Amino acid sequence: MSRDIKTKGIIIKKINFRETSIILDVLTPQYGVISIMAKGIRKQKSKNTGLLEILNELELDLYKNPSSEWYIYKSSQIINAHLFNIDLSTSILMQAAVEVIRQIIISIDDSQAIYKLLETYLQFIRTVNKNGIAIFWRFLLKLYKVMGIEFNISNCIECSQRKQFFAYFPQKHGFICEDCYHPVNNDQVFKINENAADLISKLKNIGNYIEEITISKPTVKQLNRIFITHLSEHFNKKIHLKSIELL
Ligand SMILES: [Zn+2]
Repeated sequence: MSRDIKTKGIIIKKINFRETSIILDVLTPQYGVISIMAKGIRKQKSKNTGLLEILNELELDLYKNPSSEWYIYKSSQIINAHLFNIDLSTSILMQAAVEVIRQIIISIDDSQAIYKLLETYLQFIRTVNKNGIAIFWRFLLKLYKVMGIEFNISNCIECSQRKQFFAYFPQKHGFICEDCYHPVNNDQVFKINENAADLISKLKNIGNYIEEITISKPTVKQLNRIFITHLSEHFNKKIHLKSIELL
């Protein structure tokens, strides 16, 4: 017995399948990431085909046979076309978030919170005129918190004091201050510049500073590397973000 399912969802991956079908990976609030088969959709000259684009948020009508992992597409209505009418860098920052979501494992317990987080991020990032990359980092910070892999951006992980950070220590999942930096552990840590350290200290409330901060190119590189390394360490696999290399 198959059953009908109605759910909201954000398309995070789309591939053409055979001559006429489409396979979608969709993040949903209740079911985590699901795979949807839209059979024969590309031969229909219906308006439905245009709805099935990456990053579209839809109200979906599906059905599912309990013995199968697949959800079968029936119809949908658009809630939000996030990629519509935005500039290239905003589009890249949206795709970067989706690229992360695609590479992590989302438990059903976390899916509601992660859905809300992504939805809020996609809506907010289009309103940001500059320094959008910092909003992306804050998104990652919040994502890591939901997933239980938050890193400490308040205190030095060695002396626990609230000091300016000097380096990132991947094995210890945090940052150290200059006093705790020794040439001995030199090869295990990577130094960050002052601009990056300043940004990290502001990251939780970055919305308040977004118009006034300046983010240097090396800082972008350093912080991207730190955030991705943290994720790679946790999942024990190399995680790549192709999209942000385009920024
Ligand atoms: Zn310290």
